Amino acid sequence: MWSIASPTCPNLVSGGTTSRHTSPLPSSSSVEVVALCRSFSRCCGGQSGNSGWGKDPRWQRDFSAGTTSSGLAAQLEQGRLCGEVGEGLFGRTGHSGLKQQQQRLGNFGHRERRGRWLRRSGHERTSSGSSSRLFFSPQAILQWNRRPVYSGTPPRVVVITSGKGGVGKTTTTANLGMCLARLNFKVVAIDADVGLRNLDLLLGLENRVNYTAMEVLNGECRLDQALIRDKRWTNFELLCINKPRYKMPLGFGGKALTWLVDALKKRPEGCPDFILIDCPAGIDAGFITAITPANEAVLVTTPDITSLRDADRVTGLLECDGIKDIKMVVNRVRSDMIKGEDMMSVLDVQEMLGLPLLGVIPEDSEVIKSTNRGYPLVLKKPPTLAGLALEQAAWRLVEQDSMKAVLIEEAPPKKSFLSFLGGRE
Ligand code: ADP
Ligand code: MG
Repeated sequence: MWSIASPTCPNLVSGGTTSRHTSPLPSSSSVEVVALCRSFSRCCGGQSGNSGWGKDPRWQRDFSAGTTSSGLAAQLEQGRLCGEVGEGLFGRTGHSGLKQQQQRLGNFGHRERRGRWLRRSGHERTSSGSSSRLFFSPQAILQWNRRPVYSGTPPRVVVITSGKGGVGKTTTTANLGMCLARLNFKVVAIDADVGLRNLDLLLGLENRVNYTAMEVLNGECRLDQALIRDKRWTNFELLCINKPRYKMPLGFGGKALTWLVDALKKRPEGCPDFILIDCPAGIDAGFITAITPANEAVLVTTPDITSLRDADRVTGLLECDGIKDIKMVVNRVRSDMIKGEDMMSVLDVQEMLGLPLLGVIPEDSEVIKSTNRGYPLVLKKPPTLAGLALEQAAWRLVEQDSMKAVLIEEAPPKKSFLSFLGGRE
């Protein structure tokens, strides 16, 4: 069972481990949130032990292709390229020749690191065995009003990417950005989806975009004229690259975006704490441009095979580009489908991609409503399930933390006296 340690419920203690995240919400709302957390914690995983997906020979084969890295590395060194790896679901296809083989070798190094991480999480999986409980702990009470501790040096340039389109990159960028602003961090969100920008719509700022980064680069306006300050949280600013429906401008590329990021650092108002880049779908020029100035990445994926394959490919490309700090957000998780073994559990996804987990966002109709209203979900009161999960993800992003510590196994049901007599348990 996954237990959700919420930033908004300081007193949620699951399986005897105190949540490290607290927030200054009044206690009345935290009770509400606790209820949400508990219902969500029942939803989001724990199916791996008995899930059909983990046992599916297809997955086993593909997955082992990735994890038995030392054997593969030896084969590659000897020049015997294993076809199965290239063609397998999680193999990196499309590489040939010695240089690409070396690149592959690099990717398998990345697999090795994933393997270590999986072993660690495996240990955690077996280390605790109690079910979720709620009680007040002195530590939780002392942490009331705590702000997340900023980890790293400003500005942290984070690219939100996925490979596949429509998985929730823009939703994640808008909500993470708003959460970070609410936590008093200076945030600039850059919509790098040049042709199909919609971050401004999600934030409800579409009517205020007069200038874009292209005008700044052409010397037609100043940078602060192109930055749209949100009225709800004034420490949040949006920068659009181009007018909607325009194609990627010819002169615009990774260098131009890096120049813009450097200009943001040197503003007289001060350097932002976070620069979030909303990446376009695909792995072509737009993707390369978006990842160029980033030093960390949030990979958004849904628990379906198409999205996972793309996410795996993108992980490899990010690593090749030198972005080693990659965290994963699993979006649109549906508990009913996981229970019916029609969808992979979060644990299955985690095992397949081997990335640290930043957040698990359930499928929630409130997300669509908030998208249509141009009002980020995390600002909604009372908080919704998906909003809460996004808020948690923002806390973890600040602290460079991941969700592996909240993995808790469900206690086996106790047998009643009647069960020995063949009665009901
Ligand atoms: P991307 O930027 O990756 O193309 P978007 O963020 O634009 O994806 O999301 C695509 C659609 O999916 C939007 O209509 C959004 O409302 C919806 N969506 C995203 N996340 C969720 C969720 N957790 N539950 C329900 N709908 C979602
Ligand atoms: Mg988008």
